Amino acid sequence: MVISELYSRARKMLADGDIEDSVFDATCIMEDALGMTKAELVMRGADKVSEETAERVISQCEKRLTGYPLQYILGEWEFYGCGIKVGEGVLIPRADTETLVDCVLEHMKRKNITAPRIADLCSGSGCIAIALKKHIPDADITAVELSGKAIEYLVENARSNGTELRYIRGDVMNGGLFSHFMKDSEPLLLDCIVSNPPYLTASEMEGLQREVAFEPSEALDGGHDGLKFYRVIACLWRELLKDGGLMAFEIGEQQAADVTAIMEKSGFCDIRVIKDLGGNDRVVCGVRSAQAGEKRS
Ligand code: GLN
Repeated sequence: MVISELYSRARKMLADGDIEDSVFDATCIMEDALGMTKAELVMRGADKVSEETAERVISQCEKRLTGYPLQYILGEWEFYGCGIKVGEGVLIPRADTETLVDCVLEHMKRKNITAPRIADLCSGSGCIAIALKKHIPDADITAVELSGKAIEYLVENARSNGTELRYIRGDVMNGGLFSHFMKDSEPLLLDCIVSNPPYLTASEMEGLQREVAFEPSEALDGGHDGLKFYRVIACLWRELLKDGGLMAFEIGEQQAADVTAIMEKSGFCDIRVIKDLGGNDRVVCGVRSAQAGEKRS
Protein backbone atom coordinates (compact mmCIF):
# COMPACT_ATOMS: atom_id res chain seq x y z
CA MET A 1 0.00 0.00 0.00
CA VAL A 2 1.17 3.58 -0.62
CA ILE A 3 0.85 6.53 1.71
CA SER A 4 -2.00 8.22 -0.14
CA GLU A 5 -4.11 5.03 -0.09
CA LEU A 6 -3.56 4.52 3.62
CA TYR A 7 -4.32 8.18 4.27
CA SER A 8 -7.64 8.02 2.40
CA ARG A 9 -8.54 4.78 4.10
CA ALA A 10 -7.91 6.33 7.53
CA ARG A 11 -9.95 9.41 6.66
CA LYS A 12 -12.81 7.31 5.35
CA MET A 13 -12.85 5.02 8.39
CA LEU A 14 -13.12 7.96 10.76
CA ALA A 15 -15.62 9.88 8.65
CA ASP A 16 -17.85 6.80 8.27
CA GLY A 17 -17.66 6.34 12.03
CA ASP A 18 -18.94 9.88 12.58
CA ILE A 19 -15.78 11.15 14.21
CA GLU A 20 -16.30 14.89 14.37
CA ASP A 21 -12.93 16.10 13.10
CA SER A 22 -12.23 13.02 11.03
CA VAL A 23 -9.70 14.60 8.67
CA PHE A 24 -7.79 16.22 11.50
CA ASP A 25 -7.72 13.00 13.53
CA ALA A 26 -6.69 10.88 10.54
CA THR A 27 -3.92 13.33 9.75
CA CYS A 28 -2.60 13.29 13.31
CA ILE A 29 -2.63 9.48 13.40
CA MET A 30 -0.80 9.30 10.05
CA GLU A 31 1.76 11.94 11.03
CA ASP A 32 2.47 10.10 14.25
CA ALA A 33 2.72 6.61 12.72
CA LEU A 34 4.85 7.66 9.75
CA GLY A 35 6.88 10.36 11.51
CA MET A 36 5.98 12.86 8.78
CA THR A 37 4.36 16.25 8.60
CA LYS A 38 1.10 16.69 6.74
CA ALA A 39 2.97 18.27 3.82
CA GLU A 40 5.27 15.26 3.63
CA LEU A 41 2.33 12.86 3.69
CA VAL A 42 0.95 14.63 0.62
CA MET A 43 4.27 15.08 -1.17
CA ARG A 44 5.30 11.48 -0.62
CA GLY A 45 1.85 10.06 -1.30
CA ALA A 46 3.22 7.53 -3.81
CA ASP A 47 5.79 6.07 -1.38
CA LYS A 48 5.16 2.58 -0.09
CA VAL A 49 4.32 2.01 3.56
CA SER A 50 5.32 -1.10 5.45
CA GLU A 51 2.60 -3.55 6.39
CA GLU A 52 3.40 -2.95 10.01
CA THR A 53 2.82 0.81 9.72
CA ALA A 54 -0.40 0.30 7.78
CA GLU A 55 -1.68 -2.09 10.44
CA ARG A 56 -0.74 0.36 13.15
CA VAL A 57 -2.69 3.17 11.48
CA ILE A 58 -5.74 0.98 10.92
CA SER A 59 -5.77 -0.33 14.47
CA GLN A 60 -5.40 3.20 15.86
CA CYS A 61 -8.32 4.35 13.73
CA GLU A 62 -10.35 1.41 15.02
CA LYS A 63 -9.53 2.42 18.55
CA ARG A 64 -10.47 6.03 17.81
CA LEU A 65 -13.84 4.79 16.50
CA THR A 66 -14.67 3.49 19.98
CA GLY A 67 -14.43 7.08 21.26
CA TYR A 68 -10.95 6.56 22.67
CA PRO A 69 -9.39 10.05 22.77
CA LEU A 70 -7.06 11.03 19.96
CA GLN A 71 -4.64 12.47 22.52
CA TYR A 72 -4.25 9.12 24.29
CA ILE A 73 -3.61 7.44 20.94
CA LEU A 74 -0.90 9.95 20.07
CA GLY A 75 0.50 9.89 23.61
CA GLU A 76 1.36 13.57 23.52
CA TRP A 77 -0.55 16.82 23.19
CA GLU A 78 0.54 20.41 22.95
CA PHE A 79 -0.27 22.87 25.69
CA TYR A 80 0.98 26.43 25.73
CA GLY A 81 3.75 25.49 23.32
CA CYS A 82 4.92 22.58 25.48
CA GLY A 83 4.68 18.91 24.49
CA ILE A 84 2.76 17.15 27.26
CA LYS A 85 2.73 13.36 27.43
CA VAL A 86 -0.67 11.90 28.22
CA GLY A 87 -2.31 8.53 28.54
CA GLU A 88 -4.97 6.72 30.51
CA GLY A 89 -5.16 7.97 34.07
CA VAL A 90 -4.32 11.59 33.37
CA LEU A 91 -6.51 14.48 32.20
CA ILE A 92 -5.78 15.70 28.70
CA PRO A 93 -4.71 19.37 28.65
CA ARG A 94 -7.42 21.60 27.17
CA ALA A 95 -6.76 24.70 25.10
CA ASP A 96 -9.21 26.56 27.39
CA THR A 97 -6.80 26.09 30.27
CA GLU A 98 -4.26 28.31 28.50
CA THR A 99 -6.45 31.22 29.68
CA LEU A 100 -5.53 30.29 33.25
CA VAL A 101 -1.81 30.34 32.43
CA ASP A 102 -2.23 33.73 30.74
CA CYS A 103 -3.95 35.09 33.83
CA VAL A 104 -1.07 34.11 36.12
CA LEU A 105 1.64 35.32 33.71
CA GLU A 106 -0.10 38.68 33.31
CA HIS A 107 -0.42 39.13 37.07
CA MET A 108 3.30 38.45 37.61
CA LYS A 109 4.22 40.81 34.80
CA ARG A 110 1.95 43.57 36.07
CA LYS A 111 3.32 43.23 39.60
CA ASN A 112 6.86 42.84 38.32
CA ILE A 113 7.39 39.61 40.24
CA THR A 114 10.19 37.76 38.49
CA ALA A 115 10.77 34.94 40.99
CA PRO A 116 7.32 34.06 42.37
CA ARG A 117 6.59 31.14 44.61
CA ILE A 118 3.64 29.29 43.09
CA ALA A 119 1.58 26.21 43.97
CA ASP A 120 -0.38 24.40 41.25
CA LEU A 121 -3.09 22.34 42.92
CA CYS A 122 -4.61 19.30 41.20
CA SER A 123 -1.76 19.50 38.73
CA GLY A 124 -2.52 16.34 36.71
CA SER A 125 -0.10 16.10 33.79
CA GLY A 126 1.69 19.16 35.17
CA CYS A 127 0.83 21.20 32.08
CA ILE A 128 0.02 24.43 33.95
CA ALA A 129 3.07 24.24 36.20
CA ILE A 130 5.33 23.45 33.25
CA ALA A 131 3.97 26.28 31.07
CA LEU A 132 4.42 28.73 33.95
CA LYS A 133 7.96 27.57 34.67
CA LYS A 134 8.86 27.89 30.97
CA HIS A 135 7.73 31.50 30.97
CA ILE A 136 8.99 32.44 34.43
CA PRO A 137 12.26 30.52 34.70
CA ASP A 138 13.03 31.85 38.18
CA ALA A 139 9.68 30.80 39.60
CA ASP A 140 9.65 28.28 42.41
CA ILE A 141 6.74 26.02 41.54
CA THR A 142 5.24 23.20 43.54
CA ALA A 143 2.76 20.90 41.83
CA VAL A 144 0.32 19.02 44.05
CA GLU A 145 -1.41 15.93 42.71
CA LEU A 146 -3.17 12.99 44.33
CA SER A 147 -3.08 10.39 41.58
CA GLY A 148 0.05 8.27 41.37
CA LYS A 149 -0.48 7.68 37.66
CA ALA A 150 -0.79 11.42 37.00
CA ILE A 151 2.35 12.08 39.06
CA GLU A 152 4.28 9.71 36.78
CA TYR A 153 3.23 11.80 33.78
CA LEU A 154 3.92 15.03 35.62
CA VAL A 155 7.47 14.01 36.49
CA GLU A 156 8.15 12.83 32.96
CA ASN A 157 6.65 15.99 31.46
CA ALA A 158 8.71 18.25 33.70
CA ARG A 159 11.81 16.31 32.63
CA SER A 160 11.06 16.30 28.90
CA ASN A 161 10.33 20.02 28.95
CA GLY A 162 13.51 20.74 30.90
CA THR A 163 11.57 22.39 33.74
CA GLU A 164 12.48 22.01 37.36
CA LEU A 165 9.41 21.58 39.55
CA ARG A 166 8.84 20.48 43.08
CA TYR A 167 5.97 18.05 43.45
CA ILE A 168 3.92 16.65 46.28
CA ARG A 169 1.70 13.61 46.06
CA GLY A 170 -1.26 14.39 48.23
CA ASP A 171 -4.85 15.51 48.58
CA VAL A 172 -5.41 19.27 48.34
CA MET A 173 -8.48 18.82 50.55
CA ASN A 174 -6.12 17.99 53.40
CA GLY A 175 -4.42 20.83 55.25
CA GLY A 176 -1.74 18.35 56.35
CA LEU A 177 0.07 19.17 53.11
CA PHE A 178 0.94 22.58 54.52
CA SER A 179 3.89 20.98 56.29
CA HIS A 180 5.56 20.89 52.86
CA PHE A 181 5.35 24.67 52.72
CA MET A 182 7.11 25.35 56.00
CA LYS A 183 10.65 26.32 56.74
CA ASP A 184 11.93 26.57 60.32
CA SER A 185 8.27 26.40 61.48
CA GLU A 186 7.40 29.47 59.41
CA PRO A 187 5.11 29.15 56.39
CA LEU A 188 6.75 29.81 53.03
CA LEU A 189 4.03 32.12 51.75
CA LEU A 190 3.04 31.96 48.12
CA ASP A 191 2.67 34.64 45.46
CA CYS A 192 0.12 32.54 43.64
CA ILE A 193 -2.07 29.50 43.94
CA VAL A 194 -3.33 28.25 40.61
CA SER A 195 -5.71 25.36 40.11
CA ASN A 196 -7.78 23.61 37.51
CA PRO A 197 -9.61 21.34 39.93
CA PRO A 198 -12.23 18.74 39.08
CA TYR A 199 -15.41 20.80 38.58
CA LEU A 200 -18.06 18.78 36.81
CA THR A 201 -21.39 18.39 38.58
CA ALA A 202 -22.97 15.01 39.35
CA SER A 203 -25.35 15.37 36.41
CA GLU A 204 -22.51 16.36 34.06
CA MET A 205 -20.60 13.28 35.23
CA GLU A 206 -23.56 11.18 34.15
CA GLY A 207 -23.66 12.66 30.68
CA LEU A 208 -19.98 12.77 29.78
CA GLN A 209 -19.00 13.07 26.15
CA ARG A 210 -17.83 9.65 24.89
CA GLU A 211 -14.18 10.76 24.73
CA VAL A 212 -14.19 12.38 28.18
CA ALA A 213 -15.55 9.17 29.72
CA PHE A 214 -12.12 7.61 29.03
CA GLU A 215 -10.45 10.23 31.23
CA PRO A 216 -10.01 9.68 34.97
CA SER A 217 -13.21 10.58 36.83
CA GLU A 218 -11.20 11.82 39.80
CA ALA A 219 -9.89 14.62 37.56
CA LEU A 220 -13.42 15.65 36.57
CA ASP A 221 -15.78 15.02 39.46
CA GLY A 222 -16.32 18.16 41.54
CA GLY A 223 -19.02 16.73 43.82
CA HIS A 224 -22.80 17.15 43.47
CA ASP A 225 -22.67 20.83 42.50
CA GLY A 226 -19.14 20.76 41.05
CA LEU A 227 -17.89 23.30 43.60
CA LYS A 228 -16.36 21.08 46.27
CA PHE A 229 -12.74 21.93 45.45
CA TYR A 230 -13.29 25.68 45.15
CA ARG A 231 -14.81 25.84 48.63
CA VAL A 232 -11.92 24.02 50.24
CA ILE A 233 -9.08 25.55 48.25
CA ALA A 234 -10.31 29.14 48.60
CA CYS A 235 -10.79 28.79 52.33
CA LEU A 236 -7.97 26.43 53.34
CA TRP A 237 -5.16 27.33 50.95
CA ARG A 238 -5.75 31.05 51.29
CA GLU A 239 -3.73 30.73 54.50
CA LEU A 240 -0.61 30.10 52.46
CA LEU A 241 -0.97 33.16 50.22
CA LYS A 242 0.93 36.37 50.80
CA ASP A 243 -1.19 39.49 51.16
CA GLY A 244 -1.68 40.60 47.58
CA GLY A 245 -1.09 37.02 46.40
CA LEU A 246 -3.20 35.71 43.54
CA MET A 247 -5.57 32.77 43.60
CA ALA A 248 -6.58 31.75 40.08
CA PHE A 249 -9.04 28.99 39.21
CA GLU A 250 -10.23 27.45 36.03
CA ILE A 251 -14.00 27.08 36.21
CA GLY A 252 -16.82 25.46 34.28
CA GLU A 253 -18.54 28.02 32.11
CA GLN A 254 -21.63 28.16 34.36
CA GLN A 255 -19.68 28.56 37.60
CA ALA A 256 -18.47 32.19 37.51
CA ALA A 257 -21.08 33.55 39.92
CA ASP A 258 -20.75 30.67 42.39
CA VAL A 259 -16.96 30.71 42.44
CA THR A 260 -16.92 34.51 42.72
CA ALA A 261 -19.23 34.21 45.74
CA ILE A 262 -17.01 31.56 47.31
CA MET A 263 -13.94 33.76 46.86
CA GLU A 264 -15.70 36.82 48.27
CA LYS A 265 -16.73 34.83 51.31
CA SER A 266 -13.16 33.63 51.76
CA GLY A 267 -11.85 37.21 51.86
CA PHE A 268 -10.51 37.76 48.36
CA CYS A 269 -10.70 41.11 46.61
CA ASP A 270 -10.21 42.32 43.03
CA ILE A 271 -12.10 39.26 41.88
CA ARG A 272 -12.26 38.98 38.11
CA VAL A 273 -13.89 36.59 35.67
CA ILE A 274 -11.96 35.97 32.46
CA LYS A 275 -13.33 34.41 29.29
CA ASP A 276 -11.56 31.79 27.18
CA LEU A 277 -11.05 32.14 23.44
CA GLY A 278 -14.45 30.56 22.85
CA GLY A 279 -16.05 33.44 24.76
CA ASN A 280 -17.02 31.31 27.79
CA ASP A 281 -16.28 32.27 31.38
CA ARG A 282 -13.24 30.17 32.17
CA VAL A 283 -11.16 31.72 34.94
CA VAL A 284 -11.99 33.36 38.24
CA CYS A 285 -9.13 35.01 40.07
CA GLY A 286 -8.78 37.18 43.11
CA VAL A 287 -6.21 38.64 45.40
CA ARG A 288 -5.76 37.92 49.08
CA SER A 289 -6.46 41.02 51.06
CA ALA A 290 -5.27 41.43 54.62
CA GLN A 291 -8.41 41.61 56.72
CA ALA A 292 -8.57 44.01 59.60
CA GLY A 293 -7.47 42.37 62.80
CA GLU A 294 -6.61 39.15 60.99
CA LYS A 295 -3.78 37.22 62.49
CA ARG A 296 -1.94 34.56 60.60
CA SER A 297 -1.84 31.28 62.44
N1 GLN B 1 -12.79 21.08 31.08
C1 GLN B 1 -12.99 19.72 31.41
C2 GLN B 1 -14.18 19.16 30.67
O1 GLN B 1 -15.04 19.90 30.30
C3 GLN B 1 -13.17 19.55 32.90
C4 GLN B 1 -11.89 19.68 33.56
C5 GLN B 1 -12.05 19.80 35.02
O2 GLN B 1 -12.99 19.30 35.65
N2 GLN B 1 -11.11 20.49 35.58
O3 GLN B 1 -14.25 17.99 30.46
